[in-house]
Formats: sequence, structure tokens, C-alpha cells
Amino acid sequence: MYLDARHFGAEMWARRFPTILAACRAHGIDPVTEPIPVAPAAHYASGGVRTDLRGRTTVPGLYACGEVACTGVHGANRLASNSLLEGLVFAERIAEDITARAESAGRERPAERTRPSAPAASGDAPLLASEARYEIQHIMTHGAGVLRSAESLARAADRLERVQDEAVAQLRRDGKTAEPGVETWEATNLHLVSRVLVAAALRREETRGCHWREDRPERDDAAWRRHLLVTLRPDGTLDVRSTDSEAFPPTTTPEPRRSPAREQQHFRRPPATRVPAAAADRRPR
Ligand SMILES: Cc1cc2nc3c(=O)[nH]c(=O)nc-3n(C[C@H](O)[C@H](O)[C@H](O)COP(=O)(O)OP(=O)(O)OC[C@H]3O[C@@H](n4cnc5c(N)ncnc54)[C@H](O)[C@@H]3O)c2cc1C
Repeated sequence: MYLDARHFGAEMWARRFPTILAACRAHGIDPVTEPIPVAPAAHYASGGVRTDLRGRTTVPGLYACGEVACTGVHGANRLASNSLLEGLVFAERIAEDITARAESAGRERPAERTRPSAPAASGDAPLLASEARYEIQHIMTHGAGVLRSAESLARAADRLERVQDEAVAQLRRDGKTAEPGVETWEATNLHLVSRVLVAAALRREETRGCHWREDRPERDDAAWRRHLLVTLRPDGTLDVRSTDSEAFPPTTTPEPRRSPAREQQHFRRPPATRVPAAAADRRPR
């Protein structure tokens, strides 16, 4: 796939797009005289760790902010540039919340804690080697990328399972997991996030927002205008459930202390849609 921008001409390329021109030339491509090879890429992951409007997750004391979080402000897609803005807004809200909680507990700031030790990797869930990241990226790009189908997602799920099986087999063979560190934990967590994403994408049998199912090209509000919640069970398997309505599922924490009027002003939701009885039968689990 190519992007042909030769019609801009040398002068326009140099004046309007000097950075892209330099990057292309650094990679041996001259966009002034030849088409640029391109590939579709995802530049945001919709969904994430569920939080309330103060960044609180369902785990007491744990906050999530930025691309890892699902705050409910984006829906199934994200408007351009809203992710950096979200990081800014929610970082401030989280800082406010932490300070307020510390003050209400009679302290100025949370007590110093010793650094928690890294969670142990178990026999069935070993740490993946950092190189596994490239295989996971390959699996996800081809099976769960911009375009996906039930078939490609099932293949991705199968291959992700094999990555896990190989790591378990290696642990049994060599008696040790990959060396604990940021890169190995990143690869291990990427693997889990990929499994969650593929499981949810397989369940959602429609096309919505930035998710395009080639085998289900239509948006289906009656059956699917709702959220998918994925929980990791203690045995490592995933529980995928759908909410009963489009309302963003609450975390277990109390409602925000901000005035309702102020929240609504910033986070107005569309009015609830009624699901016809016939469609209710087709509701996913
Ligand atoms: C090509 C591209 C273009 C984009 N363009 C825009 C744009 O124009 N406007 C916009 O608003 N957004 C844009 N985005 C999205 C935006 O860049 C991201 O949403 C944002 O940077 C996410 O910030 P973050 O801090 O939440 O996560 P990240 O920037 O991903 O930071 C997470 C950090 O945590 C580290 N980490 C991960 N695991 C561990 C671990 N176990 N231990 C320790 N550290 C760990 C990672 O190494 C990383 O440094 C773009 C994204 C891409 C890919």
C-alpha cells in the first residue's frame, strides 16, 4: 500500500512537511519522486482499566490514568488529541483525590511506604521474555488490527495461547522464568492485555467506533450499545460479560464529590436508548 504525494512537488514538500520529508529520506524513500509505502496503524487503544471520574479503579487505592485507563469519556473511539488532554485532566483529578483522602485521614500526604516487591510469576503464568513483545505485536497487527474478523481473532487467540504455552514449557524445562524487569513485565502485561482485547473483540459481533469487524460491518445498537467487562479469574482464564445498558459500569467507589451539575457539564451522556423486546433476546451475555 502506498501514499502517493508526488504532486506536492519539491518546494511544497520542503516548506510544508520538512519533518516527514527528512524522516522518509532517512529511510531511503524520497516522497518527492516516489510513493511512500504505508500500513494502517492503531494509535490509541480504546477500553482499558475501568475507573470513575476521579481515576479510581475497582481496586481500593489503585488509580489509573492515561491510555491504560477507561474513564468513560471516549466511548468506542477517541477524538484526535483527546488522549493527551485526558492524561492531563485525570492526572490532576487523581492528585486532587489523593490529597483530599490524605487530608480527610488527618495527614498531609500519604505515609511513606516501602517499595512493594515485584509480584511473583507462577508456574502457569511465567514472565515472558522481552522478545515475546515482537511476536505479540505481530499476532495483534495481523489478527486484531484495524480490520479484524471472527476468523482472524480466533487465530490470534490461539497464537497468544501458544506464546503462553511455550513460556510454561520453557519454565518447566529450564526451571526459571525470564529475568524480572520492566521489559519482561511489559511483555507479560502486553500479552494479558492482548488476550483481553481479543476476547472482547470476538464477543462484540458488530462494527463500532474504531473497531472494524469485516464479517460484521454494521453497527448494531439494539444488541451492542453497551460495554464489555473482562475479569481475570484466579486460574488465569478470562470472564467476558456485557453490561445490560449503555451506562458506563460504576466502579465500587462512591460517586464523585463534585457537584452533579459540574460533572454533567463536562461528561454529558446521550439519553438512554430503549431496547425493543425482540432485540433483547439477541442480547449478548
Ligand atoms: C503514532 C501515534 C501518534 C499519536 N498522536 C497523538 C496525538 O496527536 N495527540 C494525542 O493526544 N495523542 C496521540 N497519541 C496517543 C498518545 O500518544 C498516548 O495515548 C499517550 O502518549 C499515552 O500516554 P500514557 O502516559 O498513558 O502511556 P505511555 O506513554 O504508553 O507510557 C506508559 C509508560 O509506562 C512504561 N511501562 C509499561 N509497563 C511498565 C512496567 N511494568 N513497569 C514500569 N514501566 C512500565 C512504558 O515503558 C511507558 O514509558 C498518539 C499515539 C501514537 C502511537
